[in-house]
Amino acid sequence: MNETARSVTVPARQGRAFTVAAGELVTIVDVEGHQVGDLWVIDAADHGRWLSTSHTRDRLDRMFPRPGESFTDQFGAPIAEFTADDSPGRHDMLFPPCNRWLYESHGLVDHPNCHDNFLAAAASAGVTLPVVPDPVNLFQNSAPEPDGTLNVLPAASAAGDSVALRLLRPAVVVLTSCSVDNWPTNNKNCTPLLALIGPA
Ligand SMILES: [Zn+2]
Repeated sequence: MNETARSVTVPARQGRAFTVAAGELVTIVDVEGHQVGDLWVIDAADHGRWLSTSHTRDRLDRMFPRPGESFTDQFGAPIAEFTADDSPGRHDMLFPPCNRWLYESHGLVDHPNCHDNFLAAAASAGVTLPVVPDPVNLFQNSAPEPDGTLNVLPAASAAGDSVALRLLRPAVVVLTSCSVDNWPTNNKNCTPLLALIGPA
């Protein structure tokens, strides 16, 4: 990596925001393994445009992009290219971020959650949106079964597994290390993620 490369550690059960230039590559590493990361991408020049999971599914006619395909914003315009997947390839674009109401429904009050971590991290970067968009749930192992059942299984990613995206416009990226510890999602052991940002 050259002098413009940088890294952001997202501690367990927390979120971070960082700015990325057009053309830069963001590599997200599951440092210890079995850890889901919720990812948001917001257009830095127009906060009213962000990565939309539903519009990405619509434009690609797929549940999740393949490497070489792009995530789109809610106007169908590409915002980030999925360039590499060095993981078992299990990711989700159906679930919302975990949130206080979900934990409360399981009797867990004041539990850390990706929804609130997104709001705090986005605000730290000067981004306030009218809604919390549905995130890209990296490494989340919850592919639909043939009958439509959605079982969230432990993330299949091993320590050091990663995915990479190339930003197609200047963006604010928010990444949360998912806080779920009462369900197998993160193998009941929340751990950090690492984002490496640099020239493609
Ligand atoms: Zn979460």
